[in-house]
Amino acid sequence: MINKIKDFFIKNGIETDEAKAEAHFLVCEVSGLPIEKIITGEKIQNENEIWALAEKRIETGAPIQHITGFSYFMGDKFIVNSDVLIPRPETEILVQQALKLAREKALQNGELRILDIGTGTGCIAIEIAKNLPDISCVDKTVVEKSLSLEVLGVDISTSALHIAIKNMEALNQQRRVVFRKSDIFSSVYEDEKFDIIVSNPPYIPIQFKDTLQNEVKNFDPPQALFANDKDGIEFYNRILEGAKKYLKPNGYVIFELGCTEGMMQSKKVTEIARKFDYTLEFIEKDLEGTDRVIAFTACSGTKI
Ligand code: GLN
Repeated sequence: MINKIKDFFIKNGIETDEAKAEAHFLVCEVSGLPIEKIITGEKIQNENEIWALAEKRIETGAPIQHITGFSYFMGDKFIVNSDVLIPRPETEILVQQALKLAREKALQNGELRILDIGTGTGCIAIEIAKNLPDISCVDKTVVEKSLSLEVLGVDISTSALHIAIKNMEALNQQRRVVFRKSDIFSSVYEDEKFDIIVSNPPYIPIQFKDTLQNEVKNFDPPQALFANDKDGIEFYNRILEGAKKYLKPNGYVIFELGCTEGMMQSKKVTEIARKFDYTLEFIEKDLEGTDRVIAFTACSGTKI
């Protein structure tokens, strides 16, 4: 059945590798059977349902994740719809690097507050919470205590927050994750201080809209994708400008970066950070060699 659906997708204009991946995802997820069982010929009970969804994929042009209603991120299932950006695999690099910083901070003081700006599905906030176990740390009084962690996810979109809350509940992170409507820092209180501010902001320069795939251009929410300046750095600028007020001493800001038509954003974002007196902590590349994640500390120094 996977091959038949793959061929149906290819015949209808989906590129071969993509068609294969989508057919695999659709059949396994909707049948509830693992790939090994499908390959070895186990009977699929709901073939009609799967074909109906494959046809819907072609008729609507919507991404396969909107057809099934979910996507995977860091091995977990996230509810998605057109109100939220579908989590991208690159964003897992951001979460891994944020976790590295969080573990370091957690070991120092056992108390950790993290802010995720533009939380969308909540995938970053939720996975950070889920992957920071209740590690015991030894504080100054050499008493073992468990980690006190709160991750605050904010988004300007109320409908995105509804999805984020559903995902938080499905992944059972209510104890350590909260969501709030806020346009960047607009609803973050002056006395709220964070160890780490993380964000995967909208970073595609609006003039590149027509170069995007239809599945992205027509179905991901535009406010999750686009920045209104030619370099796509509007939101990095706004976040870095405001962040110092909300960071604990030596707190970190960590971002995902974009790359459009070969133009990496790392240099531009580093310039903004320098302007606001941050210190570059590190840049992490993705598998294609693109600068994908960048972290800064809130103190000034000589590393940049
Ligand atoms: N934080 C979400 C993600 O990384 C949404 C980001 C966005 O909407 N730009 O997937």
